[in-house]
Order: sequence, then structure tokens, then C-alpha cells
Amino acid sequence: MLTNLTETEQKVFQLIWYKKYGISRTEIVNKTKLSKATVSRAVDKLISNGFVVEGDAVPTTSKGRPQKLLVLRNDEILISGISIHSRFLHFVIGDLSGRLRYSENIPVDKSNVVSTIMDFPKYLEKNYNSLYRNIKVFSIVTPGQVDQVNMKVTGNFFSVEKDVYFSGLEDCWNILFKVENDVNALLSSQIMFGHLKYKNIFLIDSEFGGALVIDGKMVRGLNGGAGEFGHTQLIHDGPLCWCGKKGCVSNYFGADNLKSIFHSTIPASYMALFGRDFSVMLSELYNEKFSKEFCILYEKQLDLLADAIVDFLDLLCIDNLMLNTENPFFKDRSFEYISEKMRKTSGLKDKLKVMPLKIRKGIEIPLAISLTKFLGENIEI
Ligand SMILES: [Zn+2]
Repeated sequence: MLTNLTETEQKVFQLIWYKKYGISRTEIVNKTKLSKATVSRAVDKLISNGFVVEGDAVPTTSKGRPQKLLVLRNDEILISGISIHSRFLHFVIGDLSGRLRYSENIPVDKSNVVSTIMDFPKYLEKNYNSLYRNIKVFSIVTPGQVDQVNMKVTGNFFSVEKDVYFSGLEDCWNILFKVENDVNALLSSQIMFGHLKYKNIFLIDSEFGGALVIDGKMVRGLNGGAGEFGHTQLIHDGPLCWCGKKGCVSNYFGADNLKSIFHSTIPASYMALFGRDFSVMLSELYNEKFSKEFCILYEKQLDLLADAIVDFLDLLCIDNLMLNTENPFFKDRSFEYISEKMRKTSGLKDKLKVMPLKIRKGIEIPLAISLTKFLGENIEI
């Protein structure tokens, strides 16, 4: 079984992983400021574990043995994982570079999500036999609060049980595991595949969930719920949220509440739209500057949202904000308005960088999460 890498070994591996054409030991020493002996020990471990291989010699004019380039060994170790969606599990197998090898959508309903996952080792042995033995990490990407140590998911939609445990997998499958919240996973995948190097960053997702990196570390907090922006209270007498509080962001920006706010400013037939469709319609009316009255009211709602985000960023001194543009209130003209407003009001002023997150096709989030077991979550290089 592969063991977890130490932070130092992860740092060395990151350099080799990102340097697609190879890197010498000397260059690693120079870049990491680690001692020669430490780098040498880390490289030996990476080679013996099958992560890295020695490639061509680096041409040199000086005397002595020429150094060999270290490159990612990409022929043996496979990584895999699933992300849990409402009607299916998205299952992937990839290689150590993070490239997708196989994917499959497995239909499930609420009643069998947990049992399907717990039976996965057997399923893989039967259907992916030749690859099964080479899989060294399996990650589960899920909505809800995640306790990674106990592989526990709380507040999930797929079980009648309040808490679901995936720890039983470890008893029957001798590999590394990681369970990760879906918004944290989205941010991790951006950091890894987008090579983001921000020390402090906050991501707000399509449904106002959030993920938070402070001082280069993913912050999870008690119960794994840190960064959950959707239950920040916007107004004290707002609609009652399922969480027990009033006027939470996700509830305030829910269709029912928005209908009560906008009903006198939009055509009556639009009131028949449901859920997300209603929010998308509002966002599009704002794009086309539908009417003055409507735009003033719409900007008032964005102001509330911007103020709440700014409070959060200022409190934690976070200077990088990423907004998922699948959220209609973070899209197009709304994105421009809200970014401008935040830059004006934040104590960080122009230091505040607001970025749109556009989901890039081809990024397989469970593979990014599996890779963090080897590379770490904190990309420093
Ligand atoms: Zn709430």
C-alpha cells in the first residue's frame, strides 16, 4: 500500500509534477531551499513508490557525473473517484498526470447512493479488473459537511440518516481515500489544474456555498462547514430558512422571496417561472436594462449581497474572490456591478481581486481531489 507523503515530499513532488519536461535535483534544491540530503531522500521515496522516474541526463560542460532529469512516471499508478449528483454518480479513473482514462455515469436514486458506493470495490474488480489493482487513491466528492478523519458526511441529500459514514471502504480496499465537500473540491481543482497560487482566496459557488483558503490552507472548521456563505443572514426579518435562521442569502435569493420583491416590476407571466429559471430571467432583464424601476430594485438586492461578501472578506483579510458565473447573480452585468461595488466598499480597496469562475470542460474534479493525496492541497511552487 502507498503511504501518505510528508509535506516536504509533497513539495518536491509538486515541482516534478508541474515541470512537464523534467527537472534536476539541483534545480529542486534551488527552488525549495531544502538541503541536498533532504531533496535526495524525498526523490528516492518518490522513485521507489513509482511516482517519478529518472530520464535523460542534463548536458553539462563541468566535470563529474551528469545529473538526470526527474520526470513524472505515468504508466502504473492510477487514481479514481466519484462525485455524487442527484440522479447519478460520476465515476472517473485517471493517470497520475490527472488525465482522464475512463469515465462512467452510474444511475442512482436517493435510496441506493450509499450502498452503491460501499459496493464500489466489488464493482471495479468485476468491471475494471485490469485497472483495479493499479488504483491507489479513491476520492468521494459530495455535497454536505465533511469530516475527513472519520469519512463522515452530514447534511447530505441522499440518505435518511443525518450522518453517513464511508469509513467502511477502508476495511475492504487497501488504498488511500479522501472525502471532500463539492465546493471545496471545485476550488481544489482550480488550484491544482489552474495552478492558482493565491495564499488567500474565497470561492462562492452557484448555490452560494463557499470554499475558503487562508494562508495557503483549505479551511474546514468545526464539522467541515467553514465557508458556507449561503447561510449568512442578509436581513433580520427575512424569510425563515430551513437552517432555523431568517433572511439567509440562499433563502433570500430563492425564487419565492424574489417573486415577492419583484412582482410589481416585471410582466405578470414571468411570475410563473420556477426556481433557478426565475433568477436567470431577472439576471437577463438586468443585462438588457429592462426598466429603470426594475434595475434600481435589482441593484438594491446586489448591494445587499455585495455588502455581506465584503464583510466576510474584510473580516478574514481575503484579497481574492472567485465567483461561479453559473450563479445568475454573478454573471455578465451583475458580475460587473457587484465587483465594482465590492471594490468601492471593501477595506482592501483595489487590492481586492474579483474573478469569474468559468467551469472549464475536461477538468475532472474527483481526480484533482485524489491528486491532493500526493501533491497536497497547498500548491506553493
Ligand atoms: Zn439558512
